[in-house]
Amino acid sequence: MKKLAMYVFIDALGWEIYQKYGFMKELAPTCQRLKTTFGFSSAADPSILTGRYPDEHTHWSSFMYDPEHSPFKLLKYLELLPSSLADRGRVRHYLSRLIKWAHGYTGYFQIYNVPFKYLPYFDYLEKYDYFVPGGILATDTIFDWCVEKGIPYYCSNWRQSETRILQENKRAISEGKIRFCYVYLPHLDAVMHQHGPFSNATEAKLKELEAEISKLYRFAQRIYQDVQLYIISDHGMAPVKDSFDLMPLIQKLPYAYTRDYLAFYDSTMARFWFMNPAAKRDIIDLLQSLDIGTLVFKEDMKDLRVGFPHDKFGELYYLMNEGILINPSFMGNTLLAGMHGYHPDAPHSYSIMLSNQSIPSNIVSITDIRKTMEKCLE
Ligand SMILES: [Zn+2]
Repeated sequence: MKKLAMYVFIDALGWEIYQKYGFMKELAPTCQRLKTTFGFSSAADPSILTGRYPDEHTHWSSFMYDPEHSPFKLLKYLELLPSSLADRGRVRHYLSRLIKWAHGYTGYFQIYNVPFKYLPYFDYLEKYDYFVPGGILATDTIFDWCVEKGIPYYCSNWRQSETRILQENKRAISEGKIRFCYVYLPHLDAVMHQHGPFSNATEAKLKELEAEISKLYRFAQRIYQDVQLYIISDHGMAPVKDSFDLMPLIQKLPYAYTRDYLAFYDSTMARFWFMNPAAKRDIIDLLQSLDIGTLVFKEDMKDLRVGFPHDKFGELYYLMNEGILINPSFMGNTLLAGMHGYHPDAPHSYSIMLSNQSIPSNIVSITDIRKTMEKCLE
């Protein structure tokens, strides 16, 4: 019997959104809530593909403290640009493309809003595309596994538009040779960042996705006798309730960036490195006096399965409470309506798995998705 495992990945389709709007209930009636990994998509996506936690596959935050290996050394001269030009999104977008091209990077690469003068202290994690097999991560991905087992598959090209991705998956399915396809649909994430997770725009996007996935599934049923459909996600999306301008508070302390400490301001957390113990003490005191987030120490990181044998991702972390955004941050200076990257136990962090198959009760984390893939392809 000709079988196809169709895994449809929808970025940020979380449990709470599913509860509110429902999704694919007719074709994928079984559902399970999945716990996400701590961090951003740069940690969660590899966790799905490897079935491992970040402390095993080694990918966590995109920017890490490593001045020696920083690909941004020359960018400090751009600090001389007038800030009206340097902060323009388009300028930064083209610069990102230029650096990517100059270094031959194939991964998702963006310099976001990181100040030019600080970039030379940081290395960038996602230099290479881990969706193609070849052992970029410390543990193998499902695609490495397929290559090893000689299982023919099709993985979407994340650089393409959703329309094109759907077309290319359809083309691969039409040939009837693959046993597994990974349909990568990233756009819902952007819609919810902009309009908020509970919005008319989200509902409309879900309707559109439902129609497209149903069409692709029904098409696959004409070629394959058995299509095992799984809809999966990396994390949820929380409505943003408030923002907090953290950077000036830290800057007001009598310590100098790079001499006494270094900080990286992600949108939902701040990460610190210290050269001066007094700076560490005072920054901890300051953060502890705020009621907008919690300090995350190295022991907590270990429990969250993001403990690493080095401090490149940070020595100390300050994680914002769900729904509060650090704004402006090194990631941007627009107040978004939705955000993810909060604590994995926060209500809106949870991801989902939907299927037309029964989902075993031991599938509870995004790191368990891989097990279901292997089972389908046995
Ligand atoms: Zn996102």
